[in-house]
Amino acid sequence: MKRWQNYTQRWVNVIPWHGIGHDGACTCGIGSCLDPGAHPLNEYAQELYDEGKLPANLAIVPSGDFIVLEVQQHGRGKWADLKASHKIEKTWVSTGMRGEWFIFFKKPSARVDLSLGDGVRMRDSEFLAPPSLLPGGKRLKWLVAPWDCDLGPLPAGLLIAVTKSSPARGYDPSSAVRDSAVRMFIRRMFLNQEGKLDGEPRREKVREQAVAFNGGNCPSIETGEFMSIVESVISECEIIPPPPKEAVDAAEFFGGEIVDHLSYRE
Ligand SMILES: [Zn+2]
Repeated sequence: MKRWQNYTQRWVNVIPWHGIGHDGACTCGIGSCLDPGAHPLNEYAQELYDEGKLPANLAIVPSGDFIVLEVQQHGRGKWADLKASHKIEKTWVSTGMRGEWFIFFKKPSARVDLSLGDGVRMRDSEFLAPPSLLPGGKRLKWLVAPWDCDLGPLPAGLLIAVTKSSPARGYDPSSAVRDSAVRMFIRRMFLNQEGKLDGEPRREKVREQAVAFNGGNCPSIETGEFMSIVESVISECEIIPPPPKEAVDAAEFFGGEIVDHLSYRE
């Protein structure tokens, strides 16, 4: 297990937990143990582990560069819906002892709560990691391992789903100035897609660019608040008639001519 610990430590923080002994029982030795092979070590057990005398399991500590979405067994339908409505890139997924899926995403720059209900929630406490041994003799496994792909980003659209239910905030004049600069940026991102993308792909593109923009801003706006600004600017832009096609073509034409002209002079 030490070997596995070193192996896994490269990607995530792991700590030893009680394991399953040769007798198939929890190494804590308590006959009525409620979580065999799935609870923290006490001081004595930690010493045994350090001396290499305790077959331990591993727990992932959800801190660092990632956040974890826990999909419980009854949450798989909800997860399927989320996958159908958001572009979710390949990312690490591990199995849990009760049939859960733990889905890892790059940590967004702002605080976010992934608790969506219906068996889908954010996991912020420690949980059993592959290849921990279960009482029945099976081991937990990676469905997609950290060595198979990079950690995937949390899709911008999913951030919105997450933050839609966050409570409305009161009006704050000092943040209104900052918000108007942000709104202008988002409007520009939207207009930049004129004639290139439309409908949902256009919205998603704008969200992605806006999230990157907010992440690069210091301090960045809290995710829930920020995504509600993004959505309101997008819907404003969508009811304003687009600039006439001739104007877009003309701007591109002039843009091209100016660049050509300068390079010609040099
Ligand atoms: Zn135990």
